[in-house]
Amino acid sequence: MTKVQVLIIGGGVMGVSLMYHLVKAGWSDVLLVEKNDLTHGSTWHAAGLCTHFAHNPTIQELRAVSVRLYRDILPQETGEDCGFHPAGAMRITRNPDRMDEFRHVAGLSDFTGYPLEMLTPDRIAELHPLARLDGLLGGIYEPDDGHVDPSLATHAMAKIARRGGARIWRNCAVTGIERDSAHWRVETQKGVVAATHIVNAAGTWGWEIGHMMGLNIPSVPVLHQYLVTDTVDAVQDRVAAGLPELPIIRDPEESWYVRQERDGLILGPYEKEAQVWSVDGVPPAFGADLMPPDLDRVEHIIMAAMERIPALQTGGVKSVINGPITFTPDANPLIGPAHGAKNAWLLNGSSMGVMEGGGAGWFLAHWMTHGAPPMDALSVDSRRFGAWADRDYRVAKAVECFGLQFGVHYPHEERPAGRGLRLSPLHDLMIQRGAVMGAAHGWERPNWFSATPDVVADETFRRANWFGPVATEVEAASTRVAMADLSVFSKFDVTGPDVAAFLEAL
Ligand SMILES: Cc1cc2nc3c(=O)[nH]c(=O)nc-3n(C[C@H](O)[C@H](O)[C@H](O)COP(=O)(O)OP(=O)(O)OC[C@H]3O[C@@H](n4cnc5c(N)ncnc54)[C@H](O)[C@@H]3O)c2cc1C
Repeated sequence: MTKVQVLIIGGGVMGVSLMYHLVKAGWSDVLLVEKNDLTHGSTWHAAGLCTHFAHNPTIQELRAVSVRLYRDILPQETGEDCGFHPAGAMRITRNPDRMDEFRHVAGLSDFTGYPLEMLTPDRIAELHPLARLDGLLGGIYEPDDGHVDPSLATHAMAKIARRGGARIWRNCAVTGIERDSAHWRVETQKGVVAATHIVNAAGTWGWEIGHMMGLNIPSVPVLHQYLVTDTVDAVQDRVAAGLPELPIIRDPEESWYVRQERDGLILGPYEKEAQVWSVDGVPPAFGADLMPPDLDRVEHIIMAAMERIPALQTGGVKSVINGPITFTPDANPLIGPAHGAKNAWLLNGSSMGVMEGGGAGWFLAHWMTHGAPPMDALSVDSRRFGAWADRDYRVAKAVECFGLQFGVHYPHEERPAGRGLRLSPLHDLMIQRGAVMGAAHGWERPNWFSATPDVVADETFRRANWFGPVATEVEAASTRVAMADLSVFSKFDVTGPDVAAFLEAL
């Protein structure tokens, strides 16, 4: 029997990034097992986009760490390029609310130290001469964004990790997981491994490996496609003239991204009606495979992209990539302890695993080796979902997240899917009294009370219709009496001989 300190299951960009960062942190007794070969899940076929655009500082930091790793650190360490193209990126819009969202993210990014630039239509034309400007209000520019070759980056991390003592078993599927008093006993095709720590980094197979670990991983595979064009004359001319690579461009209103690929373009559409795939288990034979192209589903988005970037119409379709992406109910990854299972960790559920993978491995390695995460973990900790996040909920939220991939993410955003799961006994009474409900951890709870019935909260970055009513509530709570239903809050059952003294001390 093989004994190791850490066993990582899954050799995609996420698992290999963890292996690399654990070795860097001084934990070299690490074994990674991969059922096929490295990157043979979703990693090999990703479009490789890396961004700094995010609504949350932790998610943004994961993405920024990835860029630094792929662009600077790995090439320095290996002497080889990871195929990182520092093309920059922009998002364009004709929607005034979206402009507010861009200002919001630009403000956050000033604070986190990754400044983004607000764009006028003239500046869009300057940065991306192939884009038509009709109807555009402006955009946002992400100067340090780019795209990477996910396979090169993964293999570079593997190389450094192996140099530092980590091991990789390829063509070695995990077939069963058990826990004895001291270890995890993991059955693999190359024998049983006794591991102090195990990590589920199985990407699309995260749910299956979770099942073996006795966990219900809230992640659902959803199919995503992009198409690669043949030579596009306008791009070829730019290449011949030695002009810089075109920035990645996204139109969130029309739900697509476009980036340069050699002398052609890649177009990635995100349809509103997502197609979930293999929710109850990936077919055993599925490996480094793709689905057949299904462009009918996204034709309307392709047409819209061609309107905005007419050069797209001039290149035939060279290939279509259609593969699974995992979505959690809030589209953020699961990074951290698998709570309730000793020394078991999660590193999966990312729908942006290339741009987040470098940082996700850093984040989890820090958590494992220091006993605490390097920064606020609320957005990635698996405790944001519980047993209440059942199959229907997971599927409904994955579909919603995919469709809202390019939605405007307003402050205090309340999404409609998967609602009404957990209700306080006072729920109906509060609705009668004007409660405007939000969802937290599956619970319905009042965000505020409206004086008039059937009111919904404004979605805006500006002053919303709840401002006045909440001011009234605050005034009442601070000067008179307010009553709140705390049914949904945590309750602690404290027992034991010194319980009275303990509670008195609190
Ligand atoms: C068309 C498309 C385009 C994309 N474009 C981008 C993009 O531009 N930018 C971006 O950031 N993301 C993109 N993604 C998403 C990205 O590909 C994934 O988020 C990322 O690859 C996930 O990496 P991972 O390591 O978590 O999973 P994977 O790469 O799927 O790795 C999991 C590994 O676990 C292994 N495994 C599974 N079961 C077992 C077992 N029982 N035993 C041993 N090993 C096992 C698998 O073989 C696999 O290699 C795209 C996805 C698609 C489908």
